[in-house]
This record gives sequence, C-alpha cells and structure tokens, in this order.
Amino acid sequence: MDYEKVYGECEECKQKNTGSGYCKTCNVKRFQQNFQNWTSGNNDIDKFIQDNQLSANFYDQVLEWIPYNKLYDIEYIAKGGFGKVYRAKWIDGYIDGWDNKNENWERRHYSSDKFVALKSLNNSENVTLEFINEITMHCKTIKDCIISVVRVNGITQEPETKNYMMVLTYANNGSLRTYLDKNHYKLTWDTKLLNLYQITLGLKSIHEKELIHRDLHIGNILHFSENDYASITDMGLCKPADYNASENTKN
Ligand SMILES: [Zn+2]
Repeated sequence: MDYEKVYGECEECKQKNTGSGYCKTCNVKRFQQNFQNWTSGNNDIDKFIQDNQLSANFYDQVLEWIPYNKLYDIEYIAKGGFGKVYRAKWIDGYIDGWDNKNENWERRHYSSDKFVALKSLNNSENVTLEFINEITMHCKTIKDCIISVVRVNGITQEPETKNYMMVLTYANNGSLRTYLDKNHYKLTWDTKLLNLYQITLGLKSIHEKELIHRDLHIGNILHFSENDYASITDMGLCKPADYNASENTKN
C-alpha cells in the first residue's frame, strides 16, 4: 500500500505515517522509553504488550497496561460462556495521538460517560495463552478508524483474584440481540441495512487476515448508540482458516 498517499508524513521525522496520524518510527521510540515505567507482573503479558506497541501500525491497534486503580465504578454486567463482563469508568481514556506540547499521549474517551468494558476469562489451564490469543485476534482484524471489530484498549488485573482482564470499548446498547429486542419496531430499512453492512465489513476484515470467527451470532455483535454502529466481538474462538479443530483438541 502507498502509505504516503493515504496517511501523509510525520511532521517530526518526515517518515511516512502507517496509520491515520500515526508515525510508527516516532511512536515505537515513545513506547520503548516508557517500558521501564510499567509492568503487569507477568513476563508473558509484559512481552505481549511490548511487542504490540512495537508493531502497531495505527492507534486502534495499540494496547497498554492499565493499572486497576485507573478504573472506578466497576459494575458486574454479565456472565458469558467464557468468563465475566464488567463495566467501569476509565480515568485516562485510550491513546489516540501524540501531544508534542506536553510530550505525552493524547487521550480520548469513547463516550462522555468514560465507560469501558472489562472481560475476564474463566480459569483454565491455558488461560494466559487463550487470553493473549483473543486480544491478538481483535488487534489483527480491527481497521484504522473503522470499528467493525471491537477495539481492545489494554489489559488490567483485578487485585484480589489476580485475574487478568481485557479492557474493551463499551457498547452502551449491549449486544445486537438486546438492542433489537428493545428497538426493532422503530428501525428503518436504512438502519437495518447499515448495521448489516457494518457486520459484513467486520467479517471481511477477519477473512482478509485468513481467519475465521467460529462463533459468530447476534450475541457476539455489539451495538453502539454513539454512531449507530454494529461491531463484532468475542474473538476467543477465532482461528486461522486452515486450523484443524479435531487435530488440536486431542489430549
Ligand atoms: Zn515520526
């Protein structure tokens, strides 16, 4: 792809941006300089977040370590097949740019109420592996400035249970199922088709990476009121298209 044409160049180093307002060269340095200032307490997770920050090509792909004390008003929402989901307010907001004046990240909240979703996985033998895989699939398939797949903002740890949790964009309308149950009578054909189109965009970006979601249903699609958007989530079972399930479930 011709990045220069699409994203322009960095005002600082004059290199081509790899994403909207995203200079990989400059941002890699900024992230690297900050590695010594945080740790998750788990080497695998530290390495995972660091690798993500070194390889991200645009802001929607960026993960960070989010200390639990940066989250408040934490409220249990639902139990899924694979773990629990909470809602919380995040003091900082997600990284969305670099502020040259303050020499720090520009941050933004998805909505004025500052909500994010927290998702923990049930304890299993390979919890770290499954957890990392699920987040990887989100980061791989999300598109720059298109939330066809839900953005993961980072990872936190519940201090009492020591469970790691992913921090995701919060959908105030809940799943598409919940949304349709309440609103189906007032939807126009235009809105229905738009939501359908957004879901196909999400599926397209998953398939472009030669992945298959493997658990796509109306409960795993979220609906955002801010922009009337439907977006794919729950990437826990997402696997490469050539993945052989029977071979991999032996033992
Ligand atoms: Zn630069």
